[in-house]
Amino acid sequence: MSVTTDRERAIPETTAATTDPATAAGRRVARDLAVSVDGVVRRYGAVAAVDGASFDVHDGEVLTLLGPSGCGKSTLLRCLAGIDRIDGGQIDIGGRTVALAGRVSLPPERRHIGMVFQSYALWPHMKVEANVAYPLRRAKVSSTERKRRVVEALEAVHLGDLAKRYPGELSGGQQQRVSLARAIVADPALLLMDEPLSNLDAQLRDAMRAEIQRVQRDRGLTMIYVTHDQQEALALSDRILVMRAGRVMQEGTPQEIYGAPSSPYVARFVGESNRIAGTMSAPDRVRLPDGSQLTCRAVDVSPGDEVALMFRPGAIRLAESEGPTGTVVSSAFLGSVYEVMIDLDSGDRVMAHSVTPPAGTRVHLDITASSAYARDDE
Ligand code: ADP
Repeated sequence: MSVTTDRERAIPETTAATTDPATAAGRRVARDLAVSVDGVVRRYGAVAAVDGASFDVHDGEVLTLLGPSGCGKSTLLRCLAGIDRIDGGQIDIGGRTVALAGRVSLPPERRHIGMVFQSYALWPHMKVEANVAYPLRRAKVSSTERKRRVVEALEAVHLGDLAKRYPGELSGGQQQRVSLARAIVADPALLLMDEPLSNLDAQLRDAMRAEIQRVQRDRGLTMIYVTHDQQEALALSDRILVMRAGRVMQEGTPQEIYGAPSSPYVARFVGESNRIAGTMSAPDRVRLPDGSQLTCRAVDVSPGDEVALMFRPGAIRLAESEGPTGTVVSSAFLGSVYEVMIDLDSGDRVMAHSVTPPAGTRVHLDITASSAYARDDE
């Protein structure tokens, strides 16, 4: 069952994400808005697409839901938008309960949200200005006010001179900027972004990401951003939630998620990561099979435990002596660093990023202790 009405089903889904008439009529939504997601569950048959997710979003913050395809990011975003129901838990936006399983489910237009989708979802038969005006028209905002706001929103995304074009006459990047203008035109208190850069080529993606960041900061918008792209998440977010199978695995700043992943899953998913086997020899020391020892940050492990030691390629320095030894199997210059693959004598293969090429085929590894950590192998 969905909360979407028949009338809403008849229009593209982005346009359902608008504001109520009171807001659209010119009263700015209070900026002390925060989002609270508490134990939200969404099941499709036997599958829990979202399985007890809880988090808060603070006013003006950019929170990213990051995870591989199928982990429940989009479902959670749809539940926030009100275009999908929840089977358990509660969602509050701006201090108001917008969804409480089985009891409350405010329709999208009463949630004060703007939404941008990967597919742009523009009306092809409407000019840019009419597409952007659509949420205001639905909210019955006067024509004078509508015109003023459309001009302002199009200028905010640097598209003022393309107002009279049709979407088919625009590039992908321009279409996505129209979609962004439409999402912000009704002055939403919360912006929901569902993989908005995925359809754009690499160069355009960077430009559009900067554009989204600028608009979000200029307007002090609270934003929840969904992506499977770790670089995008690290670059854009104040905080990241890493998801797996409908659950939140870790929540933290980009620096925390990258520098101190709480599980091998997060370490693997966010950034390149090496993994070698060892045994805890002290509360903060790991012994490798060749007898060498490394200091590390231990997570939920005790001396004697068999562990996976994980560290970034940038945490390795190629040393002349000391440290585990290995054989260089390849070295490729990437522009700013060499990517060096090394087979350790203890059996594992690791990747190092080195500013200088390896001096020979036999190397020692100096692994930066603060970036290494151990944890029960999964
Ligand atoms: P993501 O956005 O992280 O790729 P989704 O939220 O789209 O993940 O999907 C999460 C899980 O829920 C997947 O297993 C997916 O197959 C399932 N799912 C999503 N939407 C539906 C639906 N309408 N009906 C049945 N299963 C769905």
